[in-house]
Amino acid sequence: MIIIQLTSRQKKIVDIVKEHQPITSEHIAKYLTVTRAALRPDLSILTMTGVLDARPKVGYFYLGLPKNNQLLEEVSTIKVKDIMSLPIVVTEETTVYDTIVTLFLEDVGTIYVSSAGDLSGVVSRKDLLKSVIGGVDMNKMPVGMIMTRKPIITITQEENVMIAANKIIENEIDSLPVVELSDDDNKTKTKYNVIGRISKSNITKLFVELCKS
Ligand code: ADP
Repeated sequence: MIIIQLTSRQKKIVDIVKEHQPITSEHIAKYLTVTRAALRPDLSILTMTGVLDARPKVGYFYLGLPKNNQLLEEVSTIKVKDIMSLPIVVTEETTVYDTIVTLFLEDVGTIYVSSAGDLSGVVSRKDLLKSVIGGVDMNKMPVGMIMTRKPIITITQEENVMIAANKIIENEIDSLPVVELSDDDNKTKTKYNVIGRISKSNITKLFVELCKS
């Protein structure tokens, strides 16, 4: 019995792959008259759930629909916005000392750094420890000098939690900033407004909830 609910677009992708395999994402996008970027979330879900196989430089193959996987069925309906927490954001000028205090007060492991409402960096517990062990003047050093800069791994709230979990595992990080993209005032670059945080704790809580239900 097949339980997983594919969206209508995912079903269309499966049909296209079945008919034309091996097929690249570029070609799938052409058949659906959408961009490759727009297809990425669906292709991620279909490969993560084992419906499709992606072979580098060859393309996508159809493997088969997953059978009777209730966990997968439930998870495939849960979006980032359903489990995300509030983000803790400081500005680049905040001192390392104040950032450490914020980390304790807010009880988080990672702090996001923004500049004029645009995500500019990430600072983790170990980043802060490293700078202190390295002897920086915590009261003077701005966090902008020690943070991890772009490219920052992000996620949007409408994406599936499996995509978030996969990004956390693949990039060996503890959390992802949930962002809303917009053009800046001059329309010359994309602005990343941080609206949430999804961490290993959110995913673990979800796992426990799913096991209880
Ligand atoms: P810790 O460093 O405390 O183990 P992480 O594993 O989350 O915490 O972070 C590892 C490194 O990756 C750190 O240098 C951190 O700044 C960086 N990092 C954390 N999250 C992200 C992210 N979403 N995008 C890019 N880099 C990140």
